[in-house]
Amino acid sequence: MKDAVVIHSREEILGIKKAGQAAGFVREELKNLVRSGMSTKEIDEIARALIESTGGKSAFFGYRGFPGQICISLNDEVVHGIGRNDVIVKSGDVVSLDVGVLLDGYVGDTAESIIAGVEKEEAAFLLKKTREALFAGINAALKGNFVRDISQAVQKIAEANHLGIVREYVGHGCGKRLHEPPEVPNYKTSNRGPKLQNGMVLAIEPMLNLGTHAVKTDIDGWTVRTLDAKLSAHFEHMVLINEDNPEILTWAKK
Ligand code: MG
Repeated sequence: MKDAVVIHSREEILGIKKAGQAAGFVREELKNLVRSGMSTKEIDEIARALIESTGGKSAFFGYRGFPGQICISLNDEVVHGIGRNDVIVKSGDVVSLDVGVLLDGYVGDTAESIIAGVEKEEAAFLLKKTREALFAGINAALKGNFVRDISQAVQKIAEANHLGIVREYVGHGCGKRLHEPPEVPNYKTSNRGPKLQNGMVLAIEPMLNLGTHAVKTDIDGWTVRTLDAKLSAHFEHMVLINEDNPEILTWAKK
């Protein structure tokens, strides 16, 4: 079971591409809209409207009972933050936006961290390196490689920059369901994982911290934050394993 994979048909891949582009569109629109002074609930409401404008619906809402449309995680929050009326974005905040769109039976899943208002140097560094780690992982998503090659590529960037790698949450196969096999850890494990084959779609998503890798979950049962309260960032794209280079499916729709 550990090496299980999902190979998608040509028809499924077309559907997954549409869902991926829809999620990418919502992510890009939100990046331009989010600013200091907004509540995270407002951001979630805007996300709902944007997702609906694609013809899809949130792939996260109701998933294991998740109450938000998207995940909005600020500063030391790593993932799974819920939009709230009493949480206001401040200038300099790291805002991690994780968007899942369900469109015609297919799922697009993508995330990006941005800085609201005035950038602080250490936050900008963390975002730059987490993005770099994502693309290192994507570049290793080559047919014939193993999942562990992706993990190792992400880990290399994180460790070279002394960033903590969140271990409890990992990337995953994605397409007809939000989470499909295999898991895609952001660190090397003893299992090399399955071999990458044409038709596999993976959500690669490093979650890197300025301090410790250790995290805890809030009393709300969802919000995951760093144990030392230092900043965390999250970047995610879905990629299709191809004959040659991996294809990113969550670019914004033009
Ligand atoms: Mg994901």
